[in-house]
Amino acid sequence: IFLTIEGPDGGGKTSQVQLLAAQLEKRGIHYIKTREPGGTAISDKIRELLLNPDSKDMDSKTEALLYAASRAQLVAEVIRPALQKGYVVICDRYMDASIAYQGALGLHHDDVRMINEFATDCLRPDRTYLLDIRPEEGLKRIQRAKRAEFCGDLDRIEQRALAYHNRVREQFLRIAKERGSQYVVLDGEQPKDIVAESIWSDFSTFLN
Ligand code: C5P
Ligand code: MG
Repeated sequence: IFLTIEGPDGGGKTSQVQLLAAQLEKRGIHYIKTREPGGTAISDKIRELLLNPDSKDMDSKTEALLYAASRAQLVAEVIRPALQKGYVVICDRYMDASIAYQGALGLHHDDVRMINEFATDCLRPDRTYLLDIRPEEGLKRIQRAKRAEFCGDLDRIEQRALAYHNRVREQFLRIAKERGSQYVVLDGEQPKDIVAESIWSDFSTFLN
């Protein structure tokens, strides 16, 4: 089973991946968790290039192709082999993040979809949790967390204008509506454990 978590920055995706993984662990269900961009040695190098504020001159097409390249490697090296072994795969972001984020740069969503279908050989998630959050709240959370951990500033994408992040959020909500039952939309502004309970209650039903 291939499961993805999507949504704007600061919605708590990474925490929810961890909490869900803990549930699977407890029940002895074989799983792997991974994240995008990154998840393999090559993809992590691409991640560095994408998120580095020094990449400020990157063209939007270059950006879209690099996200797709990182994803191609992750699918080939990690996700497909794990699915073949019957593992549950939990991925922090996937193809729809590109449709939302790179689409919000002004690229047509059909073009973004096309390069990603090429990159992944059309591998689609079975279930997706969208952690919806207002970008002003999400970015505030990230800034607070980064300050507390002394780990630098917002990444190159997080630094973009609020208007950009609002378009990203709208794209996610549009995609969720379009996909129908693949998507579960959750309010990412709720406390962590409430969101985690909703995810687990859905996923445990989905498993059976
Ligand atoms: O999920 P995470 O915060 O690790 O993502 C790293 C950065 O990459 C974020 O700033 C996110 O907005 C950005 N991103 C993007 N396009 C994607 C996936 C992630 O701009 N397709
Ligand atoms: Mg982030």
